[in-house]
Amino acid sequence: MSKIKAEIIKYSKMLNSRKLSALRSGNISVRYKNGFFITPSGKKYSSLKNKDIVFVTLEGRFDKKIGIPSSEWQFHQDIYKIKNDAKAIVHAHSTNATAVSTHKRGIPAFHYMVAMAGGHDIRCAKYATYGTRDLSKNILKALKGRKACLIANHGQIAFDENLSKAFELAEEVENISLQYITSLKLGRPKILSINEMKKVLSKAKNYKRG
Ligand SMILES: [Zn+2]
Repeated sequence: MSKIKAEIIKYSKMLNSRKLSALRSGNISVRYKNGFFITPSGKKYSSLKNKDIVFVTLEGRFDKKIGIPSSEWQFHQDIYKIKNDAKAIVHAHSTNATAVSTHKRGIPAFHYMVAMAGGHDIRCAKYATYGTRDLSKNILKALKGRKACLIANHGQIAFDENLSKAFELAEEVENISLQYITSLKLGRPKILSINEMKKVLSKAKNYKRG
């Protein structure tokens, strides 16, 4: 348990140092038994201690005396309930992913690396107020068949089979967002066909097995 908490703190600090989220924005969780550990509400990552990391059950229960989870804990809960392969979640307000999200658009296959998110594009979840079930619903829709998505006027979210992979995917989404913005400055980029993206996706699957 303390190992998971220490890992969450390590990666929370990396949200700051790798410029994925400033100060206390964004949040990180790791699935554990019948629930998940998550970063607390309103604390700067630089000052986090093991005791600050909060456990929330899949039914959404937590002990207020121990701590208050991030105000965005509900979409973590809903993702863990629906996605069995989600073992860790990274949510970030990273600059470039957020910039794209404010145009309420996802990222098409302008580069084959969008396949990292699991499909031929990275969708953008519809806007809803943070911390609401409506936002959860919109995020789950955008995550259908995907491990990452943008969230309109908000940021991005990525999950994977462990925290290191989820963090790497969030970094990848940020990098792809920067490349997409740069490409748009030159006009409209050429988009890869669905057929080509199918080839890329099957290659990625085989690579994972091999
Ligand atoms: Zn957020």
